[in-house]
Parts: sequence; structure tokens; C-alpha cells
Amino acid sequence: MKILFLGTGSGMPDPNRNSSAVLIEGVNGALLIDAGEGVSSRLRQQGIWKQEISTIVLTHSHTDHVSGLMMLIQGWYLEERQSPLQIFAPAFLLSGLSLWLDTVRLQPAKLPFRIDFQELSGGKFNILSGHQLEAWENGHIASSEGGSYSLAVTDGGSRWVFSSDLVNLSSLASYLPGSTGLVVESYHIEPEEAVKMAGANGIKKVYLTHIPPECNCEPLAGAIWAEDNMLING
Ligand SMILES: [Zn+2]
Ligand SMILES: [Zn+2]
Repeated sequence: MKILFLGTGSGMPDPNRNSSAVLIEGVNGALLIDAGEGVSSRLRQQGIWKQEISTIVLTHSHTDHVSGLMMLIQGWYLEERQSPLQIFAPAFLLSGLSLWLDTVRLQPAKLPFRIDFQELSGGKFNILSGHQLEAWENGHIASSEGGSYSLAVTDGGSRWVFSSDLVNLSSLASYLPGSTGLVVESYHIEPEEAVKMAGANGIKKVYLTHIPPECNCEPLAGAIWAEDNMLING
């Protein structure tokens, strides 16, 4: 499972890091987790713009996780994409997407491809990209205010946990056993604790992301600070 970091920044604009987006190769197109600002240009920079992204999962409604979505869709509209696109989002965000698309003149009815909107809730989903997706609420945004999700993505024998934004690490605890790798945000938690927790679950691959501009990002045993355009074999 190839994993490409497209945006490893935080909620603060940063000259060196775009906001949250990570691409995961699949058997039926790629899976994009979050679509922060700059995701379209990063894809073009990587020369994989034409590679079909079949599924997009938006973990929560904060701007740094969704602000690149409209440019992605506009690009595919102008290029006359044909293949269907699946978008998962929490119900609160999903309800706003239609209005947002209408407002920027990308009404789904006029697009040359179909968008299949799916509610992201707790549970397991077989998604269009060919991965199995597991999602659970993590409390970063309260359920009553729209909710926020952490994810596990399974492909073949490989299972990776993507924390997205957290309140604390405890929401990951029961989902780490049996996982191959962990991509964990570094802003709202202690990275050292994440490494310890991963190690206790036999996870040897830990990547830190959601990195603020002021981070000195000193080397941390057992983890790697992710960078935009970093490609890893999961
Ligand atoms: Zn964020
Ligand atoms: Zn957030």
C-alpha cells in the first residue's frame, strides 16, 4: 500500500507545508484522506493528477481538512472526468457540501461525472478505491457539533491507522492492535506518547503529521516527521 503525503501542515498557513491530505494507492483508484489547501497543485506536482482518485474521505469539517476540495472538483470538471467519485463525510459536513458546490457553480447535476455522497459514521465500509475503511469518532469535534473521525485503512494484509485531528490518544487505543503503521497528528498530542503507544501494540512504522510552522521537529526515536511529497511503502 503506497502512501503519499500531500499536505502535512497544521491549521496555520505555512510556506513549506500544505494543509492535511494523504493519498493511498488502491486496486481501484486512489483513496484521498482529507483535502486541505493545495491538494490539487501537489497532485500535479507529483505528476499523478491523472491517476483517478475514486474515494475521498473527509474526517471533519475544519477548514484545513476541506479547503482544497472545490479546486479538485473544478479541475476534474474542466478536464471532463468521467469516472464516478465517492465522497465520505460526517453528516453535518455532508449537508453543507451540496450548498457549497452550488455556490461555487459546480452543481453536481452539471458535472460530467457522478458524485456518490456517503455519510461517514462509526463502522466498517468497503469503499470504491478497493480498501476497507474503518471509522470511529475521536471527539476532536463533538458529535453534537458535527463530529470528527479517525480511520483505519486495510488493503491486503496491511492496516494503517490515520488519526486525523485528536483530543488525546486514548481514542486510538482499541484500534491499534494488529495494525502495520500509524500516521498520527502531532499538534494536539504528545508525539513521544504516540510512539510509546504504537510500540506497545507492535507498530514499528509511525509518521507524524499536522505539523505547525513553529515546529523544530527534532528527531524522535521510533517516528518520522512526515513532509509534503513524501512517499512511503505501507
Ligand atoms: Zn487540522
Ligand atoms: Zn481539526
